[in-house]
Amino acid sequence: MPLTLPLTATYLDLPERFYTRQPATPVAAPGLIVFNHDLAARLGLDTAQMTDAEAAALFSGNALPDAATPFAQVYAGHQFGGFSAQLGDGRALHLGELETPEGRVDIQLKGSGPTPYSRNGDGRAWLGPVLREYLMSCAMDALDVPTTRALAAVSTGETVRREHGPLPGAILTRVAASHIRVGTFQFFAARNDVEGLRALTDYAMARHYPKATTPLEFFEQVVARQAGLVARWMGLGFIHGVLNTDNVQIAGETIDYGPCAFMDDYHPDRVFSSIDRQGRYAYSNQPSVTHWNLAQLGTALVLLEPDQDKAIDAYTEALNRFPALYQAAWSRVFAGKLGLTAGNKTTALAQDLLTEMATAGLDFTNTFHALDRTADTLPDWHTRWRAAKPDDALWRRTNPAVIPRTHKIEEVIEAAVTGDFAPFHAMLAAVSAPFTESEAYMQPPQTHEKVHQTFCGT
Ligand code: AMP
Ligand code: MG
Ligand code: MG
Repeated sequence: MPLTLPLTATYLDLPERFYTRQPATPVAAPGLIVFNHDLAARLGLDTAQMTDAEAAALFSGNALPDAATPFAQVYAGHQFGGFSAQLGDGRALHLGELETPEGRVDIQLKGSGPTPYSRNGDGRAWLGPVLREYLMSCAMDALDVPTTRALAAVSTGETVRREHGPLPGAILTRVAASHIRVGTFQFFAARNDVEGLRALTDYAMARHYPKATTPLEFFEQVVARQAGLVARWMGLGFIHGVLNTDNVQIAGETIDYGPCAFMDDYHPDRVFSSIDRQGRYAYSNQPSVTHWNLAQLGTALVLLEPDQDKAIDAYTEALNRFPALYQAAWSRVFAGKLGLTAGNKTTALAQDLLTEMATAGLDFTNTFHALDRTADTLPDWHTRWRAAKPDDALWRRTNPAVIPRTHKIEEVIEAAVTGDFAPFHAMLAAVSAPFTESEAYMQPPQTHEKVHQTFCGT
């Protein structure tokens, strides 16, 4: 019996200029790589009777339920600081929404074929980025960081052409609170489409911030949620890599795992993305760039206000609460990592540790996971930390043993391209239980294994 997906699409109640209806492009020979049964259960889906062939047909777009009305969303965005007034789902298709025990979620196929927003792209994805996003989002979810999630990965049986040659095609099924981005607001603001902007704001408020009663309150809550999200990333040594405004999701989930990476040896200026030549999205720039991205959201929302001059002051004030909100969230995150309560002394202790880690080039994850071992590498700091009387149970359960290290992801992809998915499944199991020690995934890369650059690799 096939899986029943009771899809609806409240987004299609918005004006037609918000999206384009687009049938899925069938693929040659869909094959199920992996299905997230745990997530399916959390979403209230009964997958007990579903066969792999049925899942592959469904999550490739080849056999959609009758209720599905697939569409692509339009948005805009600042990409590396330059504004593109027209972007959109160029390689993704919304199947619709599901009402679940966790609330309403979008179900989207990524890599499912061209849409009117594909520009020069082919609308496809190759296996590498699909497996990377699957691993990354499962890891983030297991680490309890708000994130879009992966429900399935399917091979297409087709070849995708990329710079480095023909590669196997794949499709990821992404589950998100929604796919509304800062860039979605910018799309309407850039056209001075106040009516569209209002409809979008009302929709986003009702769906994600029901307690907000005005666009300004909505903005304040988005600012607060982003501050918390970025602090979580910082606490894990996570570098998103492409924090363009179209990759900032309004609901506050981590979205668009492209050239992202968890750091091995710590340095605040670390950058991996090959296209980030200026280090705009370096680890330590993530808070300030998020502040900047939120300024773009505020700029868009001000258009809704009858007295814009007055509104600009209120929005500026709300926006400029970001640094303090972020700082407080950062202090809470790092206090937990040290097993201490937040406060000025703890913050200083955390900052000093990071400075010493950068100087010594210590592994981010392993240093925090085995904080007691700083007795050997950083004896003075260790003495200060012990003097603060940390709760050892707290820091131990806060600092993961396993994160998806870039060199391990590369190994997984290399094997998968030759048809061997065993390393993928092994790594998926390890990153899905990040607090369980798993030797093979805890080793930092050896010099010859080090990955210095990551690629968008669509
Ligand atoms: P990203 O860098 O993944 O956030 O994507 C930026 C924009 O490029 C989005 O509008 C995507 O839909 C589009 N895009 C990325 N890869 C492709 C592709 N293979 N085909 C069509 N559009 C793409
Ligand atoms: Mg339309
Ligand atoms: Mg994107």
